[in-house]
Amino acid sequence: MTETTATIHINEIIDIVKRYERFFITTHVRADGDAIGSEVALYHALRGMGKSVSIANDSPIPQIYKFIIPGEGIYVHPALPKERAEVVFALDCPTLDRLGKTQGIIPKDAIIINIDHHISNEHFGKINWVSEEMCATGEILLHLLKGGNIDITPAMATALYVAIVTDTGRFTHSNTTPEALRIAAFLIERGARHTEISKQVYNTNPYNLIKLNALALNTINLHAGNRIATLWLTRKMLGETGVNPIDTQEFADIPISIDGVIVGVLLREMTEPNWIKISLRSRNGFNVNNIANKFGGGGHKYAAGCEIQGTITEVQRLILDELEKAL
Ligand code: 5GP
Ligand code: MN
Repeated sequence: MTETTATIHINEIIDIVKRYERFFITTHVRADGDAIGSEVALYHALRGMGKSVSIANDSPIPQIYKFIIPGEGIYVHPALPKERAEVVFALDCPTLDRLGKTQGIIPKDAIIINIDHHISNEHFGKINWVSEEMCATGEILLHLLKGGNIDITPAMATALYVAIVTDTGRFTHSNTTPEALRIAAFLIERGARHTEISKQVYNTNPYNLIKLNALALNTINLHAGNRIATLWLTRKMLGETGVNPIDTQEFADIPISIDGVIVGVLLREMTEPNWIKISLRSRNGFNVNNIANKFGGGGHKYAAGCEIQGTITEVQRLILDELEKAL
């Protein structure tokens, strides 16, 4: 993104924000830290300008992100927006389909502003600010807020820090750019509650989640000369431990953490019956976005996902076949 492109987007968006009153914010299904942190920061910014704002997502908020949600009532039911929005912000979401149920509540005549950092973004908005080189959608939002001369409050800084720390994998993934670290420093200066974030997001594991970890670790398998690792979570395992599937996103980091593994695959029974949610993680230049695309999914070069119909064993075979061809 060049300086001028950013300035054009900032001016266009701020102009719309000034002209309208009723805003609706949404994001992709199974919202993650970047999605929720970006929504909350933008919510505070728009409320600070006196606008009417509601947020709705297809999926519930994972437990670990609830501490940044300001009180009850900012999130509305995904089928029932509070009022007819004039402007819709779709954050961290590459396609309209990925909005899930909230697609159905976007008024036909609403202005859609699409802000995202996925390579697979389909530019479905009236305004599309898509920057793959940004570590998180939260980074783009920070440019927008600064560009619009909006004061970054501690609540906004905390939400944006959540977006950045989670999408960079606690500043370990290849998207940990110098800018990502500069932003983290800036956000702490602006009052981001970073120790609380570390505790809430990474160090408040419920006991049953640790028990689920034990079950999950028993499912680890290596394939393709130990270059691919798989791990799965079945409905039975989730049922036995009482863990909500929405709280299992972090399991995707386990298979790729094994020495020598180039692609890690997490398979979860969590969507429709007989559908498997796949999360792919990779390293050493191997592009998993291309693999997810083959199954109608997408994401980034080193982190992507898709959903495939079948049992875990069937789906694992399908994904391993594609991965082995590409490795
Ligand atoms: P995760 O594996 O954590 O669900 O997602 C990793 C990345 O891939 C995220 O950026 C996420 O938005 C994207 N992603 C995951 N599943 C899908 C999917 O089914 N379709 C698309 N287009 N992107 C996905
Ligand atoms: Mn993101």
